[in-house]
Amino acid sequence: MKDQFSRKINYLRISVTDRCNLSCQYCKLYPFSFRDSSSILSYEEILRVVKISLTLGINKFRLTGGEPLIRKDLAKFVRKVNSLKGIEDLSLTTNGILLKKYAKSLKEAGLKRINLSLDTLKEDKFKLLCRKDALKDVLSGIKEALKIGFVPLKINLVVLRDFNLDEIDDFINFTKDFRVIVRFIELMPFNEELNWFKRQFVSVKELKEKLRRKYILTEVKDIYTAGPAKYYKIKDFGIIGFIAGVNECFCQDCNRLRLTSYGSLRPCLWNKNELNLKEMLRAYAGDQEIIQKIKDLVICKPKERKLTQSQVSMWEVGG
Ligand code: SAM
Repeated sequence: MKDQFSRKINYLRISVTDRCNLSCQYCKLYPFSFRDSSSILSYEEILRVVKISLTLGINKFRLTGGEPLIRKDLAKFVRKVNSLKGIEDLSLTTNGILLKKYAKSLKEAGLKRINLSLDTLKEDKFKLLCRKDALKDVLSGIKEALKIGFVPLKINLVVLRDFNLDEIDDFINFTKDFRVIVRFIELMPFNEELNWFKRQFVSVKELKEKLRRKYILTEVKDIYTAGPAKYYKIKDFGIIGFIAGVNECFCQDCNRLRLTSYGSLRPCLWNKNELNLKEMLRAYAGDQEIIQKIKDLVICKPKERKLTQSQVSMWEVGG
């Protein structure tokens, strides 16, 4: 499926829940409340969307949230998705707290890759930033995921001036044996009014300059080319990536749609235009009708994002 700017749309990020076992400061802006479970898509409903998406040429899927691993029977759902003909990639984004428990069953169910979000390796900062004392669980989750064979494991870190700028070396150390790739991500201003965002923001440009004073970075172009990250080999260490989601625009290569936990299809994180698929699914709309609506939506995928247009947080839309 192509949009009006000839971008090939082949990637769907699916938020399986808006709930999370963390409340990270930059993600959940207070006040917030979760939706009741009847307004969240059932697995059967999501599966139908996946099947329809496959007929439209979408063959890469990522499960996210909220925290996907807190939804009951996720591994069983992974198995069902993975058994569909045409699935090329099925991955998961998680905070890792429950990975020790689920890594094995997810692997057996056919999950291919995991991205894990971790912003600090210090217990006190983790507690402050994520509002939970759970760093130990995340670290055991990482260990288990690597043991089970989710290699390379991508660790995503949102760079925050007062929280982790002093920990970058520790994260780089993680990459040494090439089993972990660390990706540094620019903090996105989900609510521009908040001075907190402005104060914490560190650009990829600033971070790269800082790193170049200490390390030798060589851009790696031939691997991991899909997606917005730029990858570098660090001499004597492994691979790191940078995602400058605020200061750079990747829209010209955007191949993604998002299915929100509340059942809407979004062509752009930063644009409120959505298709209410849940309503259609629950009104017994036929596949052809849904397909046509999706095509109409994709045609309207904005050429470029406008950073001010969304007041919805990642936990609602799906990070
Ligand atoms: N719970 C899962 C996790 O923690 O990976 C999936 C959902 S979470 C919303 C997905 C990603 O969104 C996390 O890596 C998180 O750091 C990122 N995120 C949330 N708010 C963000 C913000 N304001 N700027 C940049 N990344 C953000």
